[in-house]
Amino acid sequence: MGRKFFVGGNWKCNGTSEEVKKIVSTLNAGEVPSEDVVEVVVSPPFVFLSLVKSSLRPDFHVAAQNCWVKKGGAFTGEVSAEMLVNLGIPWVILGHSERRSLLNESNEFVGDKVAYALSKGLKVIACVGETLEQRESGSTMDVVAAQTKAIAERVSNWTDVVLAYEPVWAIGTGKVATPAQAQEVHFELRKWLQVNTSPEVAATTRIIYGGSVSGANCKELAAKPDVDGFLVGGASLKPEFIDIIKSAE
Ligand code: PEP
Repeated sequence: MGRKFFVGGNWKCNGTSEEVKKIVSTLNAGEVPSEDVVEVVVSPPFVFLSLVKSSLRPDFHVAAQNCWVKKGGAFTGEVSAEMLVNLGIPWVILGHSERRSLLNESNEFVGDKVAYALSKGLKVIACVGETLEQRESGSTMDVVAAQTKAIAERVSNWTDVVLAYEPVWAIGTGKVATPAQAQEVHFELRKWLQVNTSPEVAATTRIIYGGSVSGANCKELAAKPDVDGFLVGGASLKPEFIDIIKSAE
């Protein structure tokens, strides 16, 4: 079974309602391959989710950038998985490196979040990735395997999980992993899934790359056999996001 190419746009903490409307109209006018070829999901800040959902073309979908680790309640400032489901938001990004590093989200906490979000019917883009220091010390695979293990220990059905390999040193830095570097880690991650989950999960789970993906570098990265798409930050706010979606072809 082929893995459908997946392109996610992480808008992070950016935008006014006017800017968001402009991005949506650029996306709505873009000529891209059909939904049979590529799955496109954009992730605006929470406050713009409804606006984007109601105005975005029907072949593109919406993700939240986070959700709470369990049922909602007395957790000031948090947004629960139940609320996202109630709003009709199908996807959520969890474990982004900015949350892991700035908000101290541990592997276990991220694993718990992924399991809870899935249990409520959300689909999850789960992020893993090593820092520059970890890469330079040769521990890239140990780090991403530990991050993936914390998810695998809590999740048995991977159908609704997309795994995003996002080397921290490449996020927002303009320093993209080479296609060979991305392929190497994606291949190892798929092998890890084969051994630690099942051959079926390894063969069907999309492993997407994130870290300074642009219109200029996406084609070469997309050509690698284990790169099943992208999670795009900065460039997802720009018209070149359409070119990145087109790299699915
Ligand atoms: C991200 O934040 O997920 C990301 C990959 O950012 P950028 O594309 O800007 O490096």
